[in-house]
Amino acid sequence: MQGSPHPADVTPPAAARATIAPRSAGAHGAMRLAALAAVLVGLLQTAAPAVAADLPIFDAHVHYSHDAWATLPPKEAVALLRKAGLKRVMVSSSSDEGTQKLFAEAPDLIVPSLRPYRTRGEIGTWVRDESVIPHLDSRLAKHRYVAIGEFHVYGADADLPVMRRVVELARRDGLLLHLHGDADAVERVFRQDPGARILWAHAGFASPADVRATLRRHPMLWADLAFRSDPATDGRVAAEWRDAFTEFPARFMLGTDTFSPERWWYVPEHASWARRWLADLPTGVAEGIAWRNAEAMLAARRPPIAP
Ligand SMILES: [Zn+2]
Repeated sequence: MQGSPHPADVTPPAAARATIAPRSAGAHGAMRLAALAAVLVGLLQTAAPAVAADLPIFDAHVHYSHDAWATLPPKEAVALLRKAGLKRVMVSSSSDEGTQKLFAEAPDLIVPSLRPYRTRGEIGTWVRDESVIPHLDSRLAKHRYVAIGEFHVYGADADLPVMRRVVELARRDGLLLHLHGDADAVERVFRQDPGARILWAHAGFASPADVRATLRRHPMLWADLAFRSDPATDGRVAAEWRDAFTEFPARFMLGTDTFSPERWWYVPEHASWARRWLADLPTGVAEGIAWRNAEAMLAARRPPIAP
């Protein structure tokens, strides 16, 4: 996650919770209306419990890097994920050893993705480092993955030889690409392989309108909402995001992004924060974002090219 532009309001979700606006005093009518609204909301919730508190979640953006497993051993990490009610978790790590440790502990829960980084320090240099390719190749030969990523790439760098080779490897093995970057990088990868499948990390930190424009152009593009607080405030989905979810109910998914070891302790809180705002959406849309879309994205995987 490091080195990425963040929206200014990004301190999820504590900042979001802190803004319960006091009502202006004095107006009895307003108070009666508020009371009536509360009753109506209560009735609606009784009549149609939109989203259960135990809604399963597929977390599509988790890292378990070397400093995380030093402080939180695999058994405890898996216990934490299960406690949060996560049904599946897509994990990538610097190095890949972290992902393999978690996968060995809970193959039913962990969905492995192969990160090009051997250490944290490679985020800004990997795309010009040819040694990344034999590294990826040897890991791909040794272990099973659903994706290559999360990796960071912006603009014209997506057309550099190392990135092109990554796109070819994904194509060869029928893997998803988990791409953290701008819309320009997404477009360049689709030009290299129009049949690619891309999960756009953090929805590119782009505005909902820009995300929608890019999704419209590419049916095999999905977006995770990791490390964004702007989709909802106080359990209410923001209007622009509601429009995006309504237009593309099958393309968004959740992610915690445990980019530092401390973020692991935040996994259960993130899950309950997400369940609160998902309850503000129609059940089908909420379940899609919570877990069905991620499962469908994996199922849509293109078979590897025959040798
Ligand atoms: Zn990340």
